[in-house]
Amino acid sequence: MPVRVGIPRFLGYFSYYPWWKTFFEELGLEVVTSPPTNQQILNAGVAEAVNDACIPIKLYHGHVMEIKDQVDILFVPRLVKVRKFGTETFCPKFLGLPDLLQASINNLPEMLDTRVDLTRGCFELFRISRELGERFGASLSKITRAYLHACQALQGYRGLMSRGMFADDALECMEKGYKASQQKEQGSLSIAVLGYPYLVYDNFINMDIVKRLKTLGARALTVEMVSPRQLLREAKNMPKQMFWHYSNRAMHAAYYYLNRKRVDGIIHVTAFACGPDAMLDRLMEIESRRLGRMPFLTLSIDEETGTGGVETRLEAFIDMLKRRRVLE
Ligand code: SF4
Repeated sequence: MPVRVGIPRFLGYFSYYPWWKTFFEELGLEVVTSPPTNQQILNAGVAEAVNDACIPIKLYHGHVMEIKDQVDILFVPRLVKVRKFGTETFCPKFLGLPDLLQASINNLPEMLDTRVDLTRGCFELFRISRELGERFGASLSKITRAYLHACQALQGYRGLMSRGMFADDALECMEKGYKASQQKEQGSLSIAVLGYPYLVYDNFINMDIVKRLKTLGARALTVEMVSPRQLLREAKNMPKQMFWHYSNRAMHAAYYYLNRKRVDGIIHVTAFACGPDAMLDRLMEIESRRLGRMPFLTLSIDEETGTGGVETRLEAFIDMLKRRRVLE
């Protein structure tokens, strides 16, 4: 029976899952993921995590609870830095994630807390992969093949998203081998829905913002729909980069949409009690006003799952945008 490796469907999942899945499967492991977030996962996370953790960290605990008894090994990478240049890192909670879980949850399976720090360049990723593969007794040629296929899978996933797909659709497309196609969804308004991938792409916790916007006649555009090269170009708008990887990406995407006037408004999806977001949200709001008085809405996500508040705010925002268009 193959070793079962568990991957919680949250946090880094939305950015790196195709890489992880392909690599482990090529090594002959069985990959088990937790189901999409639901109320039970949220309740478990709230019960297990420390009280003052942000909602994404609580949810991650919930996803771990969901699969911990079905797997032999739990994969919880310690994401530190994924770029050679600059000083940005992942938020401290990502860095300490394996420790947080160990401190809060009893009877965890063995944890694979691989440290991912690419300060020394992308060859470092191969070194990490080699270490991981050797841990499961794979030969160098098998590890190299798994590594190359994993990189290809991630590239394919990112390509689909940059062509307008949302994370779930892109993953399904890869899983079922559909041919990539351009996003066909149209709406009279275009809204940039910016934020960390685990908030923008988890439909339970963000109360299905994208679908709600579609019903209101608006099309959502995300950070991942801007190519890495364009994001890099927009980084020059900031005299100083922020410390956090995902915050920088969201801000660079905001500049992209603002500078090209490609959207009618910006929605920042943020997590209640997120330290990095406190700064990002303010900066995005100020820049939205400065660069063309772009309408801006902050949607703060917390443990409350009633949809009334989000619905009302989205409706009011879209109404205001439609009226603004008529007046222009
Ligand atoms: S960036 Fe914010 S929301 Fe994300 S894990 Fe860190 S504190 Fe939580």
